[in-house]
Amino acid sequence: MSNLNFKIVNTDGNARAGILNINNKELLTPTFMPVATKGALKSTPHEMLDKTTVLLANTYHLYLRPGAEIINDLGGLHRFMNWDKLILTDSGGFQGWSLPTKKVDSGIQFKNVYDGSRFLMTPELSIKTQNLLGSDIAMIFDYVVDIDANNYLQNEAIQTTEHWAKIAKQVHNNEKQSLFGIVQGGLVEEYREKSALSMVNLDFDGYAIGGLALGESREDRKSIVNFTTDFLPLEKPRYVMGLGDTLGLIDLISEGIDMFDCVWPARLARHGKLITGNTYINIKNQKFISDPRPIDDSCPCFTCKNYSRAFLKHLLKNEQTTAWLYLTIHNLIQTEIMLDEARKSILESDFENFKKRYIK
Ligand SMILES: [Zn+2]
Repeated sequence: MSNLNFKIVNTDGNARAGILNINNKELLTPTFMPVATKGALKSTPHEMLDKTTVLLANTYHLYLRPGAEIINDLGGLHRFMNWDKLILTDSGGFQGWSLPTKKVDSGIQFKNVYDGSRFLMTPELSIKTQNLLGSDIAMIFDYVVDIDANNYLQNEAIQTTEHWAKIAKQVHNNEKQSLFGIVQGGLVEEYREKSALSMVNLDFDGYAIGGLALGESREDRKSIVNFTTDFLPLEKPRYVMGLGDTLGLIDLISEGIDMFDCVWPARLARHGKLITGNTYINIKNQKFISDPRPIDDSCPCFTCKNYSRAFLKHLLKNEQTTAWLYLTIHNLIQTEIMLDEARKSILESDFENFKKRYIK
């Protein structure tokens, strides 16, 4: 019995506008999930993201600190974070790629980033941890390799991910939590097809396409996603992990992807690069030193309603923590506005014109 209900309201080309209902909470797709790795966004209280309906938190980090048992004893991750909207937890599989690790048959040997000790993350442990955290959507523990890894390694990634996905299905035991499978296979069509079919065969609540946004070109990414979605069921949500730049999102909304996550808009903000519609300004630029205008006249965010470019430039140079908060809010709201407009255009069968406005 799934806790998830997904309905596609309209399609335009391959692009889809849908409504995802999980645990009686509604999510409009396509959607973007800001990343609250350790239960919080860097420098920004999530209470300030009133438009945001889903956050992503990280199993690897919460397992280490404060520990899933503690969070469970405190009433689960929603109560711990004081966030009653949706939470997706990623499984720790990505950290298996991004951190120094060693793969063994039963899982991935990690070095604890906090104290240097070693521990083994297994597919069982990842799912048990996510069951305890009580997120609305859990991800299987997957095995990620470099995008340009050779065929032997890509094949190992899809075989291992399939094996671990079977274990995840057996161990998963939280009826208020959906479980998503993850397709691997790099840029190799044969492997993406095999991996997608193996995931669909196991019947998950939704499907992620993983192992992307790892340095491949936009064209290669678009093409392999277009290829892979042919093997995924139309009626289930599709999620591309780790992608968040404007053009990248639009590319893959065009290919029928419903969900995205990325640290990118927030990280960009902390570097002073601010999204304004389909372009950027760098607030560090000297020309903004006495500019009284908001970052973007048309932006409804708290920052644009209250502060000038001159003040924000001054803060970023002299009072970074405060600047990060204001700038992060702006970039996340801009990302959400773009997705809202994309959704609206799909509903109105006007997605091509939306794309033309954004991609110049
Ligand atoms: Zn703004």
